[in-house]
Amino acid sequence: MIVALLNQKGGVGKTTIALHLAGQWARQGRRTLLIDADPQGSALDWSQQRSHEQLPRLFGVVGLARDTLHREAPELARDVDHVVIDGPPRVAGLLRSALLAADLVIIPVQPSPLDGWASAEMLALLAEARMYRPGLTARFLLNRCTARTIIARDTGAALEAHDPPLLSTRIGQRVVYAGSAQTGRLAFECAPEGHAAAEIAALAAEIEAIRP
Ligand code: ADP
Ligand code: MG
Repeated sequence: MIVALLNQKGGVGKTTIALHLAGQWARQGRRTLLIDADPQGSALDWSQQRSHEQLPRLFGVVGLARDTLHREAPELARDVDHVVIDGPPRVAGLLRSALLAADLVIIPVQPSPLDGWASAEMLALLAEARMYRPGLTARFLLNRCTARTIIARDTGAALEAHDPPLLSTRIGQRVVYAGSAQTGRLAFECAPEGHAAAEIAALAAEIEAIRP
């Protein structure tokens, strides 16, 4: 399955969630490959940081920030169980290509009404991609939820009224995620019994159960 974390808005958690999702599947023994489709190469940086720290290799990371991604992805997906695409911000050509490469699109959004509106452009691109790929499945994912769930609930209600639907697993605002890009460590490596590790495991299971 090719899962793409996409939102043309930057800073919503695409890279953070892509790395953790790939890490979760890898530790479960799934053959996993992460495609860094962002010209900024944050996932590649993370992977280099891991080598510097001599941390064990969890999954392969390849940089493919070009608009031929949809033509190259099937070949890369052939020998693995899951491909996770860490999507680019803004660049419409790259975003289109990543959309066409995916079996399942996860759109991370932050729990504020503003973010709900900001993804309208993303939804337009999704609708366009579905003209070529009618079966393309998509879900919203609430990231950076806090204990003040009233905002999250409002956004959740607004998003549930839409297609794509909202995943029931929500990702919390947690220090352990904020440090992961710099340290090269994933949440389960810092706190195996923590809330983050548990919610990532739940997210990976919920996504696998969708089977587009
Ligand atoms: P994107 O790839 O969409 O631009 P990132 O994954 O790079 O977004 O996240 C943007 C910033 O927010 C990063 O500094 C990251 O560590 C932080 N971040 C993302 N998700 C969370 C979270 N659930 N809890 C805490 N910090 C987060
Ligand atoms: Mg990113």
